[in-house]
Amino acid sequence: MNELISFPYKHILVLGLAKSGTAAAYLLLHNGKKVRINDGNDSMNEADQKRFSEMGAEIVLGSHPLSVLEGIDLIVKNPGIRYDHTIISEAVKRHIPVVTEVELAANIAQDSMIGITGSNGKTTTTTLITQMFEADEKPVQVAGNIGVVASEVAGKLATDETMVVELSSFQLLGTEHFKPHVAVLLNLFPAHLDYHGSMDAYMEAKKNIFLRQTSEDVLIYNSDQPLVEEAIQQAKSHRIPFSTTKQNIDGGWVDDTWVYFKREKIIKIEDIALVGEHNIENILAAICAVKQKGVSNAAIISVLTTFMGVKHRLQFVKTVNGRKFYNDSKATNMLATEKALSSFEKPTILLAGGLDRGDDYDSLIPSLKNVCALVTFGETSEKLQETGKKAKIKHMYQVDTMEDAVKTAYNVSKEDDIVLLSPACASWDQYATFEVRGDMFTNAVHRLA
Ligand code: ADP
Repeated sequence: MNELISFPYKHILVLGLAKSGTAAAYLLLHNGKKVRINDGNDSMNEADQKRFSEMGAEIVLGSHPLSVLEGIDLIVKNPGIRYDHTIISEAVKRHIPVVTEVELAANIAQDSMIGITGSNGKTTTTTLITQMFEADEKPVQVAGNIGVVASEVAGKLATDETMVVELSSFQLLGTEHFKPHVAVLLNLFPAHLDYHGSMDAYMEAKKNIFLRQTSEDVLIYNSDQPLVEEAIQQAKSHRIPFSTTKQNIDGGWVDDTWVYFKREKIIKIEDIALVGEHNIENILAAICAVKQKGVSNAAIISVLTTFMGVKHRLQFVKTVNGRKFYNDSKATNMLATEKALSSFEKPTILLAGGLDRGDDYDSLIPSLKNVCALVTFGETSEKLQETGKKAKIKHMYQVDTMEDAVKTAYNVSKEDDIVLLSPACASWDQYATFEVRGDMFTNAVHRLA
């Protein structure tokens, strides 16, 4: 296992175990740190408990007594634990730094790290970058918010490997020394404000991706967004912009026909498999990132001509008798559905609905201009029907199941139409996760054929 490099903390509290806490605790113990583990659950996997005890960890389960803070000089907390949790507010009062496990990952692997953050597009961009490295047969590991614990990957990272890390605002909040060699800031939209408290606080968290970078490091950023431009004023890094509106810039850009990196033509837009204007932004960011590590144009092109999207994110599923089916189950809010709808110029059958958070859906109306039929389900079914009526959509249906939604959509569709699942709502009224919802859609599409 790789060693932590000049890590100035000795007594560390790992707060909240789960996958990331477990990995962090092992890494710290392996590095000879004094570790206290505290989890609100009163049980723990037996094998872990035995191994942690053998390695000398102190384990406190079932509650978070303030006594767990005694003698502690750093807290590594699970990103899910909120800052207004009593134990964290008390730690902040006592000036104990609170970080997440990505701080440990960066301590080991910062020079090999490409970190990606932003409000939207993180998983897509992270996946594009990783696949471009793979296509060029350059050693790479992917980690972070995408589902693989960063400190675990960093602990095993080989010296020639690049580590591509998707970073959420929750992971970046409170970082102390975190500094990836290449940082990508995709965009900043109001998000997770219930957690962060304000847009300023959210932006402060996101800025941690570049704040400690030096002129030796690289910051790739969206130069079309004033909020991003404002945020990066503080960066000392070598900055590389990407833009879908400005041409001939010293970074990633497009004209009507080509995608460019600086002065170089990379790929014709019509050869890109991924649909959606927003995905051009993700592609530009990915190109700027892999160019820092010498990935070849041939590898970039081979990914961009074949990659159809990350599962559940405007993912192309299949053509059935001339109708193209897309799964955008990850679109759990209106903004995402608007993006999805703006990706198609053809008549579209939209499948939408889900958990009711009290919103009305009328702000979707301008985006519904190509929607010729609307199939709704779930708690918001009725509200979406109302919106559909106002938008004067010709054919409207309410259904109970995904199977019926897909069949109904197919029956009303014509050759060359788009059938799009982009629910604009969370899935929890009918499904355990948006992934389950997307899989049910995909399976129903396959059954049609
Ligand atoms: P994240 O990991 O940040 O949630 P994803 O790549 O999973 O992002 O995409 C989630 C949804 O966000 C997509 O379905 C799409 O609707 C929207 N999206 C993706 N990229 C962008 C972008 N660059 N700008 C705006 N919206 C985007």
